[in-house]
Amino acid sequence: MPGTDSILRFCRALLVDDKVSMENFSKAAALYCKDYDLAKVVPATDIPDGSPRSMGMNSPKGPVKPSTVHKELIIYEDPDITEYGEPIRQGYKIGDVGKADSLSYPKKGKEYTEAELNEIEIIQAMSFYYFGRIRLEETIQKSAMTQYLTGLPNSGGYMARVSEIFNSGNIGNYDAYYINVKGFGMVSKKFGFRQGDEMIRQFAHAIAGFVSEDEIVAHLGGDNFVALVKKAHYAAFVAMLSEVTVHAVQGDKTVDVKLGTTIGVWHIDKDMRELSELISLPAIALNAAKNVLHQPICHVSDELLYQVSEQKRVLERFPAAIRNREFVLFYQPKVDSKTNMLAGAEALVRWQGSDEIIPPGAFIPILEREGAIRALDLYVLEQACMDIRKWIDMGLEPVQVSVNISRKDLDDRTLPFQICDMIDRYKLDHNLIQIEITETTDETEHGIMADFLSKLYDMGISTAIDDFGSGYSSLSTLRNFKISTLKIDRSFINNDTFSKNDEIILSDIIHMAGMLGVEVITEGVERPDQLEFMQKVGCNLIQGFLYDRPLPTDVFTERLKDKVYNISF
Ligand code: C2E
Ligand code: MG
Ligand code: MG
Repeated sequence: MPGTDSILRFCRALLVDDKVSMENFSKAAALYCKDYDLAKVVPATDIPDGSPRSMGMNSPKGPVKPSTVHKELIIYEDPDITEYGEPIRQGYKIGDVGKADSLSYPKKGKEYTEAELNEIEIIQAMSFYYFGRIRLEETIQKSAMTQYLTGLPNSGGYMARVSEIFNSGNIGNYDAYYINVKGFGMVSKKFGFRQGDEMIRQFAHAIAGFVSEDEIVAHLGGDNFVALVKKAHYAAFVAMLSEVTVHAVQGDKTVDVKLGTTIGVWHIDKDMRELSELISLPAIALNAAKNVLHQPICHVSDELLYQVSEQKRVLERFPAAIRNREFVLFYQPKVDSKTNMLAGAEALVRWQGSDEIIPPGAFIPILEREGAIRALDLYVLEQACMDIRKWIDMGLEPVQVSVNISRKDLDDRTLPFQICDMIDRYKLDHNLIQIEITETTDETEHGIMADFLSKLYDMGISTAIDDFGSGYSSLSTLRNFKISTLKIDRSFINNDTFSKNDEIILSDIIHMAGMLGVEVITEGVERPDQLEFMQKVGCNLIQGFLYDRPLPTDVFTERLKDKVYNISF
């Protein structure tokens, strides 16, 4: 019968395992209804619905005020009863303005004693506060799953929602995206951080508004977003992401700012191994789009994943490979084709792996991208200096050896002095080393490169522009750089027939270079007709397979003994 025992039983049922849960709550409410002949219990009315969608997220029409959406929570209802009496009602204040009622509906015709009504009021009060705890826990959990700035799910919220889709077995219908707002650092700097935040908020609303209820957009923070969008919406979503217009205030005007994006996409296939791949794989594609391909979009593919794993392997093995001196130098002769005499050599690095020789194309671009190339370039320079010193000590007359320096090394302004110190350490004439560097079109790099080359040049170290003509070389290369040598790229001679235009351009460049005291060499000469063409336009210095491939040190040492090539073409 109702009484203190009922109240205690209710309390015990609520606090099983000290766990706040809806399940415990409805079990306790069922006991209480049975004891007091109640038909329905509503612990709180007028509850704002705090779900993200009602808070304006994912809503194309903009934010909906939270307080405009309400629901009534029924914690227990007797399914057999359709008619009930007047509820026993208790009002509670929530904060300064809110209010809610707690209601218990008796079975029709049920009368209560004064004592029973008091007991019901106690239980109602407890229910109200218990329900408050549940809401509080929900809110804490929701905010832990939400990005504070935009209100979109954060990575935790994203994973929680994608796992629902994964568990439903429909994940194969979706594409997973990683989205980065292009150049947002600059935009934010221009308009200030507060407006930057506001623009990110607008951007978030624009993309969240675009997707439908069963798709997800999440904000990882900063200018990074992820999304799970139906395959059928791929084209429309990508088109939408190509330009999102947001607004900013500049002075007293509101201006449109068009934000572009870089996107990594994974067309999800059955081979998904773990849920985290929904973020990590598109992130790999985004990184490739941004840093390797320099394109707005990249898709996850087997080839891309292979390249990334290769890259990881190279970077992991690199420090030990340097320590163990696994990098070896090959020397490719440069020949004066008029006299057939050895005139110099280029040091070209190879990675002597345990069972194979790895060509530079397989590791140099990776080391350059990851900022690790300087260690290798200095290693090659030192090995070249050591080899020249050895040749001199053997009584051989060495030739000038050129060493490639990556443009990525130039951030270090002390590099010319390090190069000079290295040459001095092996007591070599400065002119025995030439530094080759490829030309650049980048304005800032141009200045840094001019400074680098002029420092070397002034210290008597020979300088060369590599692959001249492969990019957008301009006369400014000849005008602004202090260089000893221009190395004409093989693309000029890489054809079956030679173009009249190339002939005119090359003759002029070679003539101009000659007048400026700059030596010219052509690389990649493989055939006698190519040699003939280069001689015709005035270039006699040749590096190419026609004379020699890059040679191991011992073979090249033999070339140094007898510098003459006894061949005629
Ligand atoms: P590069 O400096 O332009 O070197 C010339 C490349 O052309 C070499 O390839 C050479 O073997 C190749 N070559 C020379 N003659 C011929 C020919 O007649 N026909 C053909 N098909 N190819 C020819 P390699 O050794 O594979 O080097 C490729 C690139 O790797 C180099 O281009 C250079 O940019 C880079 N590299 C090599 N060693 C180093 C290094 O120590 N440091 C840096 N930063 N880069 C290096
Ligand atoms: Mg080179
Ligand atoms: Mg070259």
